Amino acid sequence: VPVSARQRRCPMDNKTFLIDVEKCTGCMLCSIACKDEHVGSTYSPWTKPQPGTGQFWINVLPLERGRIPRVRMSYLPVHCQNCEHAPCVRACPEAAIKTRADGLVWIDPGQCTVCDLCTEACPYDVIFINSDLEIAQKCTGCAHRVDDGELPRCVDVCPHDAIIFGEVENRKPLEVYLPKYGTEPRVYWKGLPKPWIAGTVIDAAADEVISGVSVTSIDLLENGSVSVLSDAFGDFWINGMEKDRKYRIEIRKEGYEDFLATVTTDGDQDLGTVGLKKTA
Ligand code: SF4
Ligand code: SF4
Repeated sequence: VPVSARQRRCPMDNKTFLIDVEKCTGCMLCSIACKDEHVGSTYSPWTKPQPGTGQFWINVLPLERGRIPRVRMSYLPVHCQNCEHAPCVRACPEAAIKTRADGLVWIDPGQCTVCDLCTEACPYDVIFINSDLEIAQKCTGCAHRVDDGELPRCVDVCPHDAIIFGEVENRKPLEVYLPKYGTEPRVYWKGLPKPWIAGTVIDAAADEVISGVSVTSIDLLENGSVSVLSDAFGDFWINGMEKDRKYRIEIRKEGYEDFLATVTTDGDQDLGTVGLKKTA
């Protein structure tokens, strides 16, 4: 994987990753580029060579959602989240895991005794054991490149700019991955998949799809609402629902009886085929 000719330069402070899930196509160039950068290369003091097989320091996790015929794929490029409150740092009895002044977390290969406690402590499963070198290893944020004013290799190679590195000016609308772990990651995410409500509207008597049907979801906790119209195939899709929330669904079309339902977004909600009856 060639290093990008774009020669993007990296700001020297406020180091933060931003992952935009909606831009990631799952091409895995970031994983391959990480291999190209780290297999067979030592970057002292940050790390020793990554093994050729058996571990990806950035791994692109496929996430299949829905069921046929309504299926969507998302891809999550996951590497070390550079946690502010890092369980791996607290778990290491040798104080071998350290946080740089810029926030990048690294494992000192000279101090690691391969006790394996950090791999168990990391809730993101991004620490690996290199049994040949007898050390624990993980993404270093390409500290060696950053110190030279270059971007981490995964950032540099991603053709869709799904991984950004530098200062994130407005973190408010951004999320962190798996916040339930409470580790305060310094990796921010955009477009993390949220439940959707979908279905197909048909004329129940004629057994034909109906386009232009108004479908509204009303948030029963916060009073917000979202409306969409069914498309030429009678399909509707409301994205970005809050998880574990109750919504009233109102499906209305002039000349037909209203269809009303309450759904709980404990996952993606496929209402299937909704048959509307003509008014008398
Ligand atoms: Fe996704 Fe970019 Fe990695 Fe490709 S290179 S898998 S688009 S993050
Ligand atoms: Fe440590 Fe895992 Fe957090 Fe990285 S993601 S800082 S390895 S706990």
